[in-house]
Amino acid sequence: MSIRKIVKYGSDVLRQKSKEISKISKKIQVLAEDMLDTMYANRGVGLAGPQVGELLRIFVIDVSDPKGPCNPMVFINPKIIKKDGAIACNEGCLSFPDVYTYVRRYKNVTVKALDLKGKPFIIEAKDGELLSRAIQHEFDHLNGVLFVDHSRNRFDADKVLAENGLPPVQADYLLEEPELEEIIVRENSVIEDKMEENEE
Ligand code: ZN
Repeated sequence: MSIRKIVKYGSDVLRQKSKEISKISKKIQVLAEDMLDTMYANRGVGLAGPQVGELLRIFVIDVSDPKGPCNPMVFINPKIIKKDGAIACNEGCLSFPDVYTYVRRYKNVTVKALDLKGKPFIIEAKDGELLSRAIQHEFDHLNGVLFVDHSRNRFDADKVLAENGLPPVQADYLLEEPELEEIIVRENSVIEDKMEENEE
């Protein structure tokens, strides 16, 4: 068990595509434990392989109440097999300390992945709940996509990035997502809570 260093925005590692995990070896088990330790130590709700410099298709999530018991979840070689609806939410990321901005997400997602024993499982996350948003956020990391790419307003994002000494939004990576934006505006589905907010 150890806490690993989190790769910060600006590093090229975060833009690379991660590789499938062919065997759930001891090394992968240790990596998953370290990722959970690192996530808890930084009070995050999710962490993906590239964020600790490992370009492997693995992420961890815990969306349980920080005051209650832990509920660590490990996703290996995940695939999003269903997605629909749209919401906007105020999101952050452990690779972007203190940066929050409104992004577009699907409302409902179904993910299929392997657990640490190599057993397949399917999780359905609905209604824009934290789990649904976290799955989409962490899954993106495995493809080199970052939450600011989903920004509803890149100028707002640039402002908060600059305030925290981070590089601006990269225009080449910006996602337009008109189909999501249309639903968000029509349904006025905006979640105000900050994701990955610290307990204090
Ligand atoms: Zn992130």
